[in-house]
Amino acid sequence: MAERVRVTIVGGGTAGWMAAAALAALLPRKCAVTLIESEAIGIIGVGEATLPHLKAFNDRLGFNEAAFMAATRATYKLGIEFRDWARIGDSYIHPFGAFGNDIGGVGFHHYWHRARAAGQAEDLDAYSLPVVAARMARFTPADTIARAPHGFSHAYQFDSTLYAPYLRRFAEARGVERIEGKVVDVARHGESGDIRAVTLEDGRSFEGDLFLDCSGFRALLIDGVLEEPFEDWSRWLPCDRAAAVPCAVQAGPLLPYTSAIAMPSGWRWRIPLQHRVGNGYVYASGHCSDDEAVAAILGAIEGEPIAEPRILRFRAGRRRRGWVNNCVSVGLSGGFLEPLESTSIYLVQLCVQTLIELFPQDGVAAIDRDEFNRVLDLEYDRIRDFLILHYHATQRSDSAFWERMRTLDIPDSLAEKIELYRRRGRVAQYGRGLFLEPSWIAVYAGQRIVPDGFDQRAGAGSIEAVAKGMEAFRRRTAEVAAGMPGHVDYMMRTGAMAA
Ligand code: FAD
Repeated sequence: MAERVRVTIVGGGTAGWMAAAALAALLPRKCAVTLIESEAIGIIGVGEATLPHLKAFNDRLGFNEAAFMAATRATYKLGIEFRDWARIGDSYIHPFGAFGNDIGGVGFHHYWHRARAAGQAEDLDAYSLPVVAARMARFTPADTIARAPHGFSHAYQFDSTLYAPYLRRFAEARGVERIEGKVVDVARHGESGDIRAVTLEDGRSFEGDLFLDCSGFRALLIDGVLEEPFEDWSRWLPCDRAAAVPCAVQAGPLLPYTSAIAMPSGWRWRIPLQHRVGNGYVYASGHCSDDEAVAAILGAIEGEPIAEPRILRFRAGRRRRGWVNNCVSVGLSGGFLEPLESTSIYLVQLCVQTLIELFPQDGVAAIDRDEFNRVLDLEYDRIRDFLILHYHATQRSDSAFWERMRTLDIPDSLAEKIELYRRRGRVAQYGRGLFLEPSWIAVYAGQRIVPDGFDQRAGAGSIEAVAKGMEAFRRRTAEVAAGMPGHVDYMMRTGAMAA
């Protein structure tokens, strides 16, 4: 193998350019990166809502937050609002932060359950600073608040067609070679079956030691060449299409959160950016035709549409193994779970980060490849269960779709988590990864799953004392939120607003 590992990336969407930028910045002397993309094919062009991990990714590459936001027309995001999920009329926010503070090592939610059962607590939302601030369209980063009631983090809502070009400028400045062209053929090493080279329409050929399949749903290498099977999860997540249509920004506050609003055959996203609002109806084609979906989303959006509606087709699931031979699938080629919790770009990031940690400097070792696949498996499974919970924890039966989802046969792994929570509010513990305790609590409580009991230690002390402490916390939260700058004011002040 050459001294510097030759990494050949096929595809220049968000996945391809995130991988290229991170490899160039974090392993500068270890690899030589070539990225091949086809303008004629283009990118998927959706994927506007992110998780706080993206901030860590950008920070790691040294991006200036305000400059990145202005370039991608981004807004801040403090969480995701779920409307009409358990019952029509319900609304809660899954925030990027905890609810309350642990008391003597016991989770706040246990005290909340106790006080709630005694009729002495507000909705859980009232004890979360990011939720209260989001509802008031206020924003400032957590580390700028003196005496914050508790920590929180933030993510972004951005124009997905602008992020890849932003990363491209960064990556090319660090030596990534970009090749324009369409891959039409792939050569393999005889014995190992590893990929040796890809050939373009114009006959040029590019060799590599390691190939990243970032070709989107086409999955050119991982499926087209290596034929790695796809694990289909549509029996649990039957939504398989989206009708997307952006609209003009309306008068009123710019909201620092994404909305996921339940619809008769799925749900719709609403993502406020600086220059437009992203909208899309994610639906199950078995329950709703494309024409019905387009009519429904056009009828639901608040502003003037600024583009023709687009239908996107997908299937829930993932590649059985993401890394096969010397090929790693990153992004949509490796799998897709609907954007209900904004997880796709996070999964790209996880692939890139894990690959860098296990980078095959001296050739691909099976043990590293297995570890990569294990990490990805764990995260996909958790996200899958978390998404199914949103559909399963519903009392709706007002359409065939919701009746189906309410009575769905869920995976055992999720059934166990729900049973554990129902007994005494215990959230299954993971250690690290996505969607830790506060996330599950947000959805359980927001979707009306009420545990039969709580941690026994939260039963100590009088209910009056517990209620008094909670009320003080709620007031402090409301006070701090009211003192935060408006979302737009903060963006104007820091230069995050595009001129
Ligand atoms: P693509 O953007 O499709 O890029 C594929 C690249 O491969 C392109 O450059 C293309 O030109 C190239 N290519 C393909 N074939 C060839 C070839 N033969 N030769 C050369 N080049 C080739 N994610 C989130 O995190 N948040 C969201 O809110 C969100 N919303 C979504 C909504 C919908 C409806 C869908 C479908 C996805 C959403 N996603 C979201 C996912 C997100 O869009 C993707 O994960 C992300 O954009 C990465 O896509 P990609 O780079 O893998 O694929």
